[in-house]
Amino acid sequence: MRILMIASEAAPFAKTGGLADVVGALPRALARLGHHVDLVLPRYRGITGEQALGRVTVPLGGQVADAAILSATVTDGVRAIFVDHPAYFDRDFLYGVADHDYADNAERFAFFARAALEWAAASHLRHDIVHGHDWQAGLVPVLLHRGLAPHPRLRAAVTVFTIHNLAYQGIFDASWLPRLGLGFELMHANALEYYGRISFLKGGILFSRVITTVSPQYAQEVQTPDLGFGFDGILRHRSADLVGILNGIDYDQWDPARDPHLPVPFDPSNLAGKDAVKRALLEQVGLPTDSAVLARPLVGMVSRLVDQKGFDLLATLGDELARLDASFVLLGSGERRYEDFWLGLAARHPGRIAVRIGFDEALAHRIEGGADLFLMPSRFEPCGLNQMYSLRYGTVPLVRATGGLVDTVENFDPPTGKGTGFTFDEYSPQALLGTLRWALGVYQDRAIWRRIQAAGMQQDLSWDASARQYVKVYERATGKVAQPPSDPATEERDTQHGIRQTEDPH
Ligand code: ADP
Repeated sequence: MRILMIASEAAPFAKTGGLADVVGALPRALARLGHHVDLVLPRYRGITGEQALGRVTVPLGGQVADAAILSATVTDGVRAIFVDHPAYFDRDFLYGVADHDYADNAERFAFFARAALEWAAASHLRHDIVHGHDWQAGLVPVLLHRGLAPHPRLRAAVTVFTIHNLAYQGIFDASWLPRLGLGFELMHANALEYYGRISFLKGGILFSRVITTVSPQYAQEVQTPDLGFGFDGILRHRSADLVGILNGIDYDQWDPARDPHLPVPFDPSNLAGKDAVKRALLEQVGLPTDSAVLARPLVGMVSRLVDQKGFDLLATLGDELARLDASFVLLGSGERRYEDFWLGLAARHPGRIAVRIGFDEALAHRIEGGADLFLMPSRFEPCGLNQMYSLRYGTVPLVRATGGLVDTVENFDPPTGKGTGFTFDEYSPQALLGTLRWALGVYQDRAIWRRIQAAGMQQDLSWDASARQYVKVYERATGKVAQPPSDPATEERDTQHGIRQTEDPH
């Protein structure tokens, strides 16, 4: 298959979050399975292409603008295609400054979506799949559906849309519609309208043939009012076409047998190196390294310090944490109150708790390598990467049973000895503390602990497994009878989201 992938960021070119990791890794994994990917990205400041492919003309409202198209080979089978329009993309940041989004984001990403399709049409390549990611690519399926795709061949392509973070919804004033070359008929509950404004994310969800999100459990949870961020009704409407696919992890970056950030390598058949990493980690963060501390379980955390990650629960537990039979090392940054809380805790218990505020890739690897337990008490977690790194590094994860954490961590079951970690359900400090006490108790039985470590280290978390599932989605999307979005021009609003199904628009 030839896949046109459209996203606003991808490692190593541009990154603000997990989206970039996924869009960086998935095309390469698809190429390893024999597929071709053209990955279209904005050309942000600092990105250079190897080859100029020409120019495209992009109609946008009453105006017509030009973009240069550059390309770079990522690997065999994967090309990055950059849309170069300096006025939109040659800026200090990707989406905005500090807490303020750029005021013209609607225009920037409408232009980007349209330019990506213009390039695809001009390329004369036959793309089987057009795969957009997050709200920035939300207008891609809308344009295809509205017949605004520049070439009929493109209109035959099947659209897939992936939600990485439902919290970002691309919501703008409806007055943008004509300026983006879109008609006011899209200001409709079955189209882009969202509480009196327009949402690009909604366009992506309603007008794509198949929608994916980044774990099977999260795919269920986003259909509930609790975790649907106002989109649960829209997603329930598309539930027959909503698929959860777990992200993989990059084995080139995260492998304890060849991780340059670890002082000593280790693997499942030789865990002795892990003890040496623990000692080096304790030294690095200034905790004691006497035999009593080495024997005591070390709990690691690498995280954004925000409510989503359970830091409100940890703050409630306070000094109770230091009275457990454990040491703690935390690396993170985020909300000031949580930074202050952890710095205070470390100051009061310097022999037990070490805290590093900031972003430190090397230390993150060392914590994954040197800790015994990894703590991730998230309130919600679309997929989560750190628990997967932990599994691979023999660092037993203790997680709240939500989203991708449910799909990756199997709770230890004492009667059978099965399981890869520890999970708790209720989002409460007591549930977290009880589970932590339980895990620290289990740690004392080294044979059982080794078995839990080994089970986690053997789990397949590779991108190849995830890419195979995306291929299945692509095959299903191209072969199946569609569950199309409604035609906004002929539909009427119903009580909830005004959504009904009509014939296939594609
Ligand atoms: P989220 O994307 O919600 O922050 P994930 O677990 O999916 O959570 O991914 C977080 C990624 O960012 C992981 O690769 C993690 O190691 C990394 N990370 C988070 N905070 C830090 C930090 N302070 N220093 C280094 N890496 C960090």
